[in-house]
Amino acid sequence: MTNPFSHSKQGSAMYVTPQVIRPRLEETARAVVPTRFGSFEMVVFRTLDALPGDLALSPEPVAIIAGDVHGKRNVPVRVHSECITSEVFGSLKCDCKQQLEAAQAEIARRGTGIVLYLRQEGRGIGLANKIRAYALQQEGADTVDANRLLGLPDDARTYGAAAAMLEHLGVRSIQLMSNNPDKIDGLRELGVEVEGRIPVLVPVGPHAADYLHAKRKRMRHILPSHLEAACAPEPVFCAPDAE
Ligand SMILES: [Zn+2]
Repeated sequence: MTNPFSHSKQGSAMYVTPQVIRPRLEETARAVVPTRFGSFEMVVFRTLDALPGDLALSPEPVAIIAGDVHGKRNVPVRVHSECITSEVFGSLKCDCKQQLEAAQAEIARRGTGIVLYLRQEGRGIGLANKIRAYALQQEGADTVDANRLLGLPDDARTYGAAAAMLEHLGVRSIQLMSNNPDKIDGLRELGVEVEGRIPVLVPVGPHAADYLHAKRKRMRHILPSHLEAACAPEPVFCAPDAE
């Protein structure tokens, strides 16, 4: 039996650090889909490892791709977690739909890039828990405290599926379209080479102001405070950070 953490190389056994272990995914379908932002190649995957059964999360992460990304470096990538409330039903409590659409528009404008759509509703706690948290927020808790009152983590998202999809697609390094430094750290820990960050600054309405405030103050998101006042006229994309 080979010790997976052994440095000794015996035969074809390979040393694999915990950081590069991925969930196992298989590609199940692929087709070009026209969207109102432009055409994307949609690649559907299936997670082969067990998901937490009580959260009813979908096992089908999706990549939508513009341009030729195989073997490329500095590919603009949005790692986006499912938000059925805003993306399907138009909920105004968060800025997820605007961020997804801004990323699609920017990727289409650049002619290259990927949205990796991860099926972890409600920052990974599932739809039912998300709506339970909304009920607590109606009583005055913010998004972080509501999760804690339910005995749930502030953020249960994982990015292993994103790393696995990037590997499958042959992407060598990325520019992450995000305001969340924890996401950059999480991807780097999984072995993804993140060469820079492209901020995704979208205007939001008053219903999402509290959520953005909590993201900025309590979850380290890099967001200018003026966005909470819904005064940014258009999505803003800046040059990648030098840091
Ligand atoms: Zn959302």
